[in-house]
Amino acid sequence: MDNSENEKQIALDRRYIRMASIWAENSYCKRRQVGALIVKDKMIISDGYNGTPSGFENVCEDENNITKPYVLHAEANAITKIARSNNSSDGATMYVTASPCIECSKLIIQAGIKRVVYSEKYRLEDGLDLLKRAGIEVVYIPIENEQS
Ligand SMILES: [Zn+2]
Repeated sequence: MDNSENEKQIALDRRYIRMASIWAENSYCKRRQVGALIVKDKMIISDGYNGTPSGFENVCEDENNITKPYVLHAEANAITKIARSNNSSDGATMYVTASPCIECSKLIIQAGIKRVVYSEKYRLEDGLDLLKRAGIEVVYIPIENEQS
């Protein structure tokens, strides 16, 4: 990639990660809201946010404010949505507002995703380490606070 192409890619990455952060607002989880987009050939082929499986009540936390064990992460929701579509995530880029955990990283690898752009660091980096071990390009782009 030459310089201008590289700059274009960075500009696109910034826009998609901002879109993922807007998408995170769909999450009805209270403790944490995470959004994910899967982009292939400049098209958004899937999206997801953290939440309970289809058919379950839209409440992520129990009475002690602990996240229920069956809440799906945004990445898992975006990947499994592709499983129900005619699209393929092979070679795609995932944009996710938080750094993927190790469980989601396994899914990302198996889904054939080749790039992961994330915006919020997490104290555990084992997910990111796994992605890198699998040869996936991992890019960190912080979301800039917009002036209102
Ligand atoms: Zn996860």
